[in-house]
Amino acid sequence: MDTNFFQGKTACVTGAGRGSFFLIIITLHERSCCFETLGIGQALALRLAKLGCKVIAISKTEAHLKELVSMDNTIRPVCVDLSDWAATKNAIKEHLPIQLLVNNAAVAILDPFLNIKLEDVDTLFNVNVRSIICLSQEIVRDLIERKLPGSIVNVSSQASAAALKDHTVYCATKASVDAVTRNMALELGPHQIRVNSVQPTVVLTDMGRIGWSDEKKAAGMLSKIPLNKFAEVDDVVEPIIFLLSDKSGMINGVGLPIVIISNHPLMDTAQNLSLDDQSLAATDSDDNALKSLENIQQLYLHFLFKLRSENIVGASGTSTID
Ligand code: NAP
Repeated sequence: MDTNFFQGKTACVTGAGRGSFFLIIITLHERSCCFETLGIGQALALRLAKLGCKVIAISKTEAHLKELVSMDNTIRPVCVDLSDWAATKNAIKEHLPIQLLVNNAAVAILDPFLNIKLEDVDTLFNVNVRSIICLSQEIVRDLIERKLPGSIVNVSSQASAAALKDHTVYCATKASVDAVTRNMALELGPHQIRVNSVQPTVVLTDMGRIGWSDEKKAAGMLSKIPLNKFAEVDDVVEPIIFLLSDKSGMINGVGLPIVIISNHPLMDTAQNLSLDDQSLAATDSDDNALKSLENIQQLYLHFLFKLRSENIVGASGTSTID
């Protein structure tokens, strides 16, 4: 009989409020509007609670946490600024042990390269990267002492491997998230604690719809997405649930793109594969191959297999974790 893997486990989700990410995009596009949307962390916290987890929801804004608890009063809110190292470690202590952790909180401060400010670099790295190290250390140290297994998912972005206008520091933090993920996977694997990341494309929350529903504006990004659509919040939540669960028991150190965009390194590699390699991915033409999810998955696996068989990369597809 299938038992519920999540039942009775404690899960922690950071950034389980909502707000800053798209607010900045909206401001950039000089749109002022009211919106109500579930952030990725908020939706994830609600989903994990439904699955039977005791959920610890971390966020910075008390009002956002109150709103979350009003949707599910089993969720335990922890209001802390994750850029504060000591306060974060202190705040999580009373909730241990935590076997499932999703490091989702992040900020996006966007600026042209020449305008980047010191304080913004610090804020971005402190929230998007340093907090992952800080919180995971505390949770993992406890799991190791108790000899309990665990699963951690870090929320990265397609920005980790892309060049996006005005995104220099944000992209750098997400590339760091993937690097931290690989190294955590290497060191924590022997303790049966798996660590993976997800790399979503644009996620269509209500705010996302406002920012990207203009057909002309969306066309540029959509043309790079073979599925020709943006992600919904659930398109990110469900792969995270899978990575947390025992269904992904041998997946460790992976950065999972949601989805691969056509200028992703894996896609660029498609252009450089030999004719034989390309025939694995393409049936009619290169163009058709890029539009088919099935072919892209095939290409992705073939690409990883090829590089791994040449002993070039580890599971993440970008560097060795030996
Ligand atoms: P969001 O709605 O802006 O939510 C971000 C969350 O992080 C909020 O709950 C916010 O807290 C929290 N947070 C920010 N700074 C914090 C701090 N110092 N301490 C504690 N919590 C803090 O973002 P989202 O769009 O759901 O994105 C979630 C994740 O997905 C992020 O890692 C983002 O980089 C990634 N991502 C998003 C997209 C997209 O298109 N949306 C695409 C790729 C990747 P409060 O609400 O309490 O202030």
